[in-house]
Amino acid sequence: MKKGFGISIGIVLLALVIGAILLSSWFFEGEPPQVNLSPKPQVIGKESVFELEVSDSKRGLRLISISVKQGEVVQTLMEEDLTKRGSSGEDLHLLKRQVIFKPLEKGLKGGKAILSLVAYDRSLRNGGEGNRSSIEWEVEIDTTPPFVRAVAPYHYYNMGGTGVVVYETAEDSTESGVRCGDQFYRGFRVKDRQGLWICFFPIPQEHTSKDRCQLYSKDRAGNENQTQFSYQIRPKKFRSDSITITEDFLKAIYPYFESIGIGNTQGQLVEWFKFINGKQREMDESKFSQMAKSTHEEALWEGVFLRMKDAAPMAGFGDRRSYKHGGQIIGDSVHKGVDLASLEHSPVEAANSGRVVFTGDLGIYGKTIILDHGQGIFSSYSHLSEIKVEVGQGISKGQVIGKTGKTGLAGGDHLHFGIMVQGVFVNPIEWWDALWIKEKISRWIEPEGKEATEAGPREAEKGPGKKKPLRPKRS
Ligand SMILES: [Zn+2]
Repeated sequence: MKKGFGISIGIVLLALVIGAILLSSWFFEGEPPQVNLSPKPQVIGKESVFELEVSDSKRGLRLISISVKQGEVVQTLMEEDLTKRGSSGEDLHLLKRQVIFKPLEKGLKGGKAILSLVAYDRSLRNGGEGNRSSIEWEVEIDTTPPFVRAVAPYHYYNMGGTGVVVYETAEDSTESGVRCGDQFYRGFRVKDRQGLWICFFPIPQEHTSKDRCQLYSKDRAGNENQTQFSYQIRPKKFRSDSITITEDFLKAIYPYFESIGIGNTQGQLVEWFKFINGKQREMDESKFSQMAKSTHEEALWEGVFLRMKDAAPMAGFGDRRSYKHGGQIIGDSVHKGVDLASLEHSPVEAANSGRVVFTGDLGIYGKTIILDHGQGIFSSYSHLSEIKVEVGQGISKGQVIGKTGKTGLAGGDHLHFGIMVQGVFVNPIEWWDALWIKEKISRWIEPEGKEATEAGPREAEKGPGKKKPLRPKRS
């Protein structure tokens, strides 16, 4: 009996000891919390936002603190007692938080600093302080907005044309360009010219003062700057005409559309025309912009763009058209390129060097080729009868890439030529003008040492071949 009683006591004691060990290994657990800040800041700007993540799988979190040390100054950016969280007093095992740093408000200056992140858990170790985790690293505080300024004192742009601005910005700028209203057009580095950038942007046919354009730059610390640059937009009148759409015309263009899956007339050719001129045209134009989303960082083009040889202009950029059928207006459109006609199936040359980004059927534009010339400039060739190039292919200026035709919404054999700047069609005429290219672009980005001045207002629309000598004028 006595022996059995002794064993029972032994078992109870053993259970108590094991229980005590289990409890103390719970209350006195030795696993420190995990701390992380992402992205781990290297540079802190005027206002930088980071994601904080702290976790503790055992007892839970007790305290988190973030501080910055700069010389003798130590500033606490955040300190929070996490035991007070939650109404039911449950342990907190994971904390995710957005942390906003505004160094200037904390009396910190530009320059190096040490950022440290400390977390404690609710273990009773270390005299009740808990397990401690900390990370510490050097950061750079940079609260100066990047400078950005235009190189030329004044700029003249044509409505519906291309805006060009050459500018300088801080070396640590990570994103810069031109902002017009809520649109942003990115700038690109000028080759072999340290600190010099160029931005090409579209000047809409309807330019309103609320779309006022400004230069923009953002640096690696996220500091932003926006500055004015002087420019003037010359108004331009665009042509309007009306085109009669006949049954015969619709019957003639229909087979091509049927072959590319845009048929479905249900015998209603006029209704079908309304669809292709409306919804289909919209889809096609967004396809063009889509193609221009990514571009080569460097200029692949050089010098003036080529205009199709011996070709008569049939329609200009920005022409407003209304389509009539049986005395009724059945649709309208704005012409986004220039129509050039020569002999049937004439060779089509690449207007400048670049890379093929699209070939194929493109709705009302018919068989189309799109070339990327780099830095946001694209050219397009539509209504072709033949395509001789493939996507990805490098193309040199003047290379024959296809043949003219009348595929798509075309009344006869011609080339519809378009120029896109950052996904928006602009008037190609400027790009055919060697003087415009020289005045607006080349002279500003030429190797250093050459004097550059913007010339006064000038009618850009002289067309090719009619070049006036360059007379720079200070304004
Ligand atoms: Zn056209």
